[in-house]
Amino acid sequence: MKELQERIVRDGKVLSSHVLKVDSFLNHQVDPVLTMQIGQAFAELFREERVTKVLTIEASGIHFALATAYALGIPFIYAKKKKAVTLTEDVYSVPVHSFTRQETYQISVSKQYLSAEDRVLIVDDFLATGAALLGLTKIVADAGAHLIGVGAVVEKSFQEGRGLLEQAGVRVESLARIASMSIGEVNFVHQASVHS
Ligand code: 5GP
Repeated sequence: MKELQERIVRDGKVLSSHVLKVDSFLNHQVDPVLTMQIGQAFAELFREERVTKVLTIEASGIHFALATAYALGIPFIYAKKKKAVTLTEDVYSVPVHSFTRQETYQISVSKQYLSAEDRVLIVDDFLATGAALLGLTKIVADAGAHLIGVGAVVEKSFQEGRGLLEQAGVRVESLARIASMSIGEVNFVHQASVHS
């Protein structure tokens, strides 16, 4: 997605060869116009698939799931990272290890909102190691629902996430695929090197 790549080059900050900071427009302060364009892009990619629910994980995936679900005219669900008091025992729940935070947390979705009839599109902000997205695919499997695919806003293609999802037979669509990066430079997959 051209607008997204240009924005990453303009406003993204490469903190190290592995960490891209995008919190001025994607995941802390949020650009609503770009977010809605991202939702449209995912909706177009998966339009023919008769998706019934978009699934994401709190907090950084929520606005992209909202934009995608709005464009598709369907509901979205966000997996909760901590069991809320209002969540009864009736949840699908899996552990996810965060490599960025070096901690394992439990993610949960109420069984009320995901069933074997659902055709699910998973959306999240980043695809890195794939741990978060693989956790969500496990929840879809536990519900007996049909997984249509995964949409990542930014993919760090030099990390293992895409490979792990593809090995599991999952369709992966990422709107910006970063082949490599270093301070001041981001190289996209299939694109010439651009300076940030
Ligand atoms: P995973 O390693 O499970 O694929 O990524 C887990 C989460 O870590 C992502 O959803 C995202 O919130 C965060 N994350 C991973 N890599 C980056 C990065 O380079 N920059 C930012 N801002 N977040 C990241």
